[in-house]
Amino acid sequence: MLTIKVFVATDCTQGRRDNDFHYTDGTELVDLARSCDTDRGDPDGRCGCCRAFTGLASRKATTTAEVAYRQLTPEQYRDAFHTSYVDAGFPDTSETRQDAVDAADELRRIASSWSVGTVIERRGDTLGVRAWGDLTTRED
Ligand SMILES: [Zn+2]
Repeated sequence: MLTIKVFVATDCTQGRRDNDFHYTDGTELVDLARSCDTDRGDPDGRCGCCRAFTGLASRKATTTAEVAYRQLTPEQYRDAFHTSYVDAGFPDTSETRQDAVDAADELRRIASSWSVGTVIERRGDTLGVRAWGDLTTRED
């Protein structure tokens, strides 16, 4: 079994911003929330989608995620995104599959550049560091 670096939900640093929220379950895998027409890319919008991550299993949102190791193959990680999208109501088509693969690969690429335990926030299309992880766990 491969070990890969991914983003998972965390409540660490919650409350550092006035408009933080955290509804995800435990340390589940997360994706970036899809942005809606109301917030239009504004990370401090009323809806909150542009500062949110979505839990793949719960489909609930959080504003904080952290880098963690998970014993998954890249394919299993992509499958988790695909399953989540279908559970959310997207049609089980090749387009949805490709969206899942693209999202999983992109997040895994970004996560690989940070140490495990690094807490991340989202500001629209940008991911930023709230708290640095433990450099002793760095593997790259
Ligand atoms: Zn929104």
